[in-house]
Amino acid sequence: MVIKTLNLEHECSRDQRNYWLNSTFFAQRYANELRADPDWSVPGFTAAIQRDFGLEPSMQQIYRAKLKATKLNKGSFVEQFHKLHDYCEELKRANPRSTVLLKTELDGDQRRFHRLYICLEACKTGFLQGCRPVIGMDGCFIKGPHPGQLLAAVGIDGNNGMFPLAYAVVEIENKETWDWFIRNLMADLAIENGHGYAFISDKQKGLGLALGDLLPNAEHRHCVRHFYNNFKTSHSGLTLKQLMWDAARATTIPWWQCHMERMKQESEVAWKWLHPKSAVHWSRSHFRTQYKCDILLNNLCEAFNSSILKARDKPILSMLEGIRTNLMVRMANRRVAAWKWKRHVGPRIEQIMEKNKLEAGYCIPTLSGDMKYQVTNMHGGQFAVDLAIKTCSCRRWDLCGLPCPHAISCILRRKHDPYSYVDECYKREAYLKCYNPIISPVPSMDQWLSTGPHPLLPPLFKKQTGRPRKKRAREQGDPPAATKGNKLSKWVHDKFSCSKCGQAGHNKKTCGKSTSQQPPSAQVVPKPRQRKPKLKVARGGRKIQQSRSNSNAPTGTSISQPSLAVVRFSQPSPAPQVASQPPTAHNSSSQQASTSQTVQRRKLKSPAKKGRPWRV
Ligand SMILES: [Zn+2]
Ligand SMILES: [Zn+2]
Ligand SMILES: [Zn+2]
Repeated sequence: MVIKTLNLEHECSRDQRNYWLNSTFFAQRYANELRADPDWSVPGFTAAIQRDFGLEPSMQQIYRAKLKATKLNKGSFVEQFHKLHDYCEELKRANPRSTVLLKTELDGDQRRFHRLYICLEACKTGFLQGCRPVIGMDGCFIKGPHPGQLLAAVGIDGNNGMFPLAYAVVEIENKETWDWFIRNLMADLAIENGHGYAFISDKQKGLGLALGDLLPNAEHRHCVRHFYNNFKTSHSGLTLKQLMWDAARATTIPWWQCHMERMKQESEVAWKWLHPKSAVHWSRSHFRTQYKCDILLNNLCEAFNSSILKARDKPILSMLEGIRTNLMVRMANRRVAAWKWKRHVGPRIEQIMEKNKLEAGYCIPTLSGDMKYQVTNMHGGQFAVDLAIKTCSCRRWDLCGLPCPHAISCILRRKHDPYSYVDECYKREAYLKCYNPIISPVPSMDQWLSTGPHPLLPPLFKKQTGRPRKKRAREQGDPPAATKGNKLSKWVHDKFSCSKCGQAGHNKKTCGKSTSQQPPSAQVVPKPRQRKPKLKVARGGRKIQQSRSNSNAPTGTSISQPSLAVVRFSQPSPAPQVASQPPTAHNSSSQQASTSQTVQRRKLKSPAKKGRPWRV
């Protein structure tokens, strides 16, 4: 071998791209870290790669790497379905008398997953012994390559907290699946026709029908927040909102009638919409008093759904184990917490009682005999209280089991402790009865007995495209989501209006300018991204400043296009700039520097592709 030319001058610079550093490599390299922290955030993962290898992977690369690492650690989504049968057996072995129903379908000569219902023994006994007969029901989406629905039934504990009761994985939310879920729940709790039970729902697809069919004697409450959202679509306005909520909160029928009458005067159309809707479902005035629970909202289920948020996008076994572990930890923690209560009722109940005690200061009780009192409120109204049978004519005490201010004034007059008149269901004994049953731990899958000869196939569902959305979809009437940093939310931004002409969407500085500079085709041009102007500012320059102020106005969208060109020209040779950057720049924590660098690299992408293959 003869060396003909030898160039000892080292001229080439550091390269950001590396063909071999792809998602598969990252998955293998960081498998241990991802096992320890499966919810490692994308920015955190990116930062680790930047630190260890000095290059910046794309977001898609990180998603792929995380998915591959999960497969390495826990088996793929499909493999987890194969083991589902063993898991159910193991769960039943660890928690005897639990209901674990795995429904499968025949596909050729193999079995395919259809539905799964789980009601653990501890939840069952805890609910029957210590909870009020009130059950909230809701469904939520399951993410991942085998999407479905998770249906849940949630009870209410002695501290007005949620008590998860049963959950099921089904293919879709409709009458048939809710029917199946409720039938299983009825069998577990020995409910016959629903007598003595109250159910709260958002009136989802099928659930209302299924409840009406299967539990005709139960009270069926609709979540008033959802109910109001339906009302609002046709009848908006703050006065109507107030009146509707007043009607929902009214505890006696005459008060409810009064609010409805006021609504009729305010808006005949709204009244006509609301009046045929049976108040049994949405107003406290028509609720039965036997449940000792006056909740109007389905908050219990929403609390449950958000508590299992992290588990929901995992493969099926990880998800089920995540939910079970969550329940196990909850029960263990609450068992201990009950002994730290200052009184024999929980902190939430104490809060309500203290508020009622303050209001009781405005009530003057007059003894009528035995335990009966006539109470005059200083703000108006006269009430009849009977401490012996724990009732007040305002019905608040009857509905929720906590003495109302009128009753408390009588109790204080007798020099008794108001807390001793609280219903039994709120006391520590009931709370402990509900949390004393223990959910047993389950060992990892290598210790399970193999039962089924045929592995279970996953359900046939299409994969959802795009990154799964984790946050709850905001409904009409929800306040807008909080924005990070000092960026104004759309809600605030939309409220700006010009002080010169009074129109919304632009300010005094850009008034008039934007409309005159608008080309005829401007309406077709899509809005530029919010962060584009930020990057331009980072590089400075007068021209850029001007283009920024224009692009802020929604009508000036077309201007941002040429301004990008200006930026490009102002930097004559971007290529050497990237090369000349010292490697230490990657470690700098400044977000601005790294993002502007990304943009520069993106511009370089197309010419660089010619040279050598590399992956984004
Ligand atoms: Zn070299
Ligand atoms: Zn009262
Ligand atoms: Zn203006």
